[in-house]
Amino acid sequence: NRSRVPFSSQLNAVAICRTPYKQKFGIPRQPGLVDVVGYIEFEPAFNHIDAVRGIEQNSHLWLLFCFHENIAQGWKTMVRPPRLGGNEKLGVFATRSTFRPNGIGQSVVKLHGVVQRKGKVCLIISGMDLLDGTPIIDIKPYIPFSDAIVDAKSGIAQDAPVLIAVTYTAIALTQIAQYAAIEQYQGLAELINGVLSQDPRPAYKKNKDDPKLYQVALYDLDIFWHITSQGIEVLELKPTKV
Ligand code: SAM
Repeated sequence: NRSRVPFSSQLNAVAICRTPYKQKFGIPRQPGLVDVVGYIEFEPAFNHIDAVRGIEQNSHLWLLFCFHENIAQGWKTMVRPPRLGGNEKLGVFATRSTFRPNGIGQSVVKLHGVVQRKGKVCLIISGMDLLDGTPIIDIKPYIPFSDAIVDAKSGIAQDAPVLIAVTYTAIALTQIAQYAAIEQYQGLAELINGVLSQDPRPAYKKNKDDPKLYQVALYDLDIFWHITSQGIEVLELKPTKV
């Protein structure tokens, strides 16, 4: 019977994605929502400039990757999408949940160029929704005539998230300006604003009093914030404790 070919596969990471996102909380829920720069560093077995020859002809790439931080927790038949406030369940294959049978994610990102850093071939990308250290299992060009379906319907996620206002204490503004003057933190102000304006809180916390002190980790900094009547207020930045 040839109708069912036995299948099993051992996937290897071809590359590792380097991003400023050091914890899952705060990472945008889809790509293209925050204009943030990251790098794809090829693993030794794939670290060959010929393997990316011609890739600069593409403005965007598909990244296929592993939700490596969730893989040990297995998968669920039904999940509670954050968009539905955690109240309603959908089948895993009807969502972009990270708790999937093979733990595979896919994101379209912008490609800025190819460089060699410390002997490694690297792609400079932006707009990714990936945790720092995410294993990349494949990379392919995004092909607009086929991949972009302008009148597509997408159920619970038809529109981009509604943004929330972000304000800053005087201390936070001074700290951001000081860090942003250092090369490794360039774009920090835009990154903090982009991440927090998505309101990373779970939906069930929204639209009610929320006195909690929150924190997101970007680069090696913890950004502390809370909710006010205006939206989100950034309180201060602290180096992440190691
Ligand atoms: N665009 C991808 C997709 O549709 O397959 C990912 C969507 S998923 C909802 C995005 C979330 O995955 C992020 O907000 C972050 O919390 C989580 N995430 C990103 N990288 C991860 C990783 N390596 N392991 C586990 N979770 C990750």
